[in-house]
Amino acid sequence: MDTRQEGIARLREIVQASKKMVFFGGAGVSTESGIPDFRSQDGLYRQKYKYPPEYILSRTFFDRHTEEFFEFYREKMLCLNAQPNAAHYKLAQWEREGKLAAVITQNIDGLHQKAGSHAVLELHGSIWRNVCMDCGALYPAEQIAESAGIPRCRCGGVIKPDVVLYEEPLDQAVLARSVELIEEADTLIVGGTSLNVQPAASLIDFFRGKNAAVINRGAPARSMQGVLFIDGKIGEVFSAV
Ligand code: NAD
Ligand code: ZN
Repeated sequence: MDTRQEGIARLREIVQASKKMVFFGGAGVSTESGIPDFRSQDGLYRQKYKYPPEYILSRTFFDRHTEEFFEFYREKMLCLNAQPNAAHYKLAQWEREGKLAAVITQNIDGLHQKAGSHAVLELHGSIWRNVCMDCGALYPAEQIAESAGIPRCRCGGVIKPDVVLYEEPLDQAVLARSVELIEEADTLIVGGTSLNVQPAASLIDFFRGKNAAVINRGAPARSMQGVLFIDGKIGEVFSAV
């Protein structure tokens, strides 16, 4: 067996022995669904725009250049037709089998729910919720996709996607519940994340369970002590588990 196969075999054993797994993931979980991540070779940060994507996705940019924000957002972030891949489906299966307590995701694409997962904590919000900044009215994502320029509420207010932009705080309740779940987990699987974005990336420090595994293309920015690392596409790896 090569090391990759050994890794997969070990991951299979870990999953079989687990009763309360938590999965912590990022944009790499959805690249096999055709949604670009930020930091890969073909990620959004390597493409050329008038402004750096980090700035476009900041609250300052949203407030100052609202129309340009929405141009970028509609073109690059709104992926309403994307379908879950094998990684999303496997996680939903583990939840149904009673092995997985929750998915904690930095993604905003809603693909875990599309695949059938129920316990999903969205640290950075969701493209599927959109809120009028003046009156709080809710709007479907399709309305943002189909609108031109700045999407507006009936009341005239700007409709903002419920996604956490740089400079914005995370939902404290979601963060606190994520900490709790990681603290209580017997196994932590981390996948498809560069672990660059704080405070999300620091959540893994709360894990004190028995087994941890990282499945990623290339090593993430932060390492975890003594964990199983499988370098590969998470959909492919999870299919083989
Ligand atoms: P990131 O782009 O910083 O890192 C992605 C990591 O996943 C990289 O290390 C990359 O090598 C790896 N990767 C890519 N494809 C993979 C695959 N098929 N299997 C395994 N690993 C793979 O993403 P991040 O760490 O999530 O942080 C960036 C921020 O990007 C997050 O806050 C998130 O909100 C946002 N984001 C979300 C989406 C989405 O919702 N799908 C897409 C782009 C960015
Ligand atoms: Zn309104």
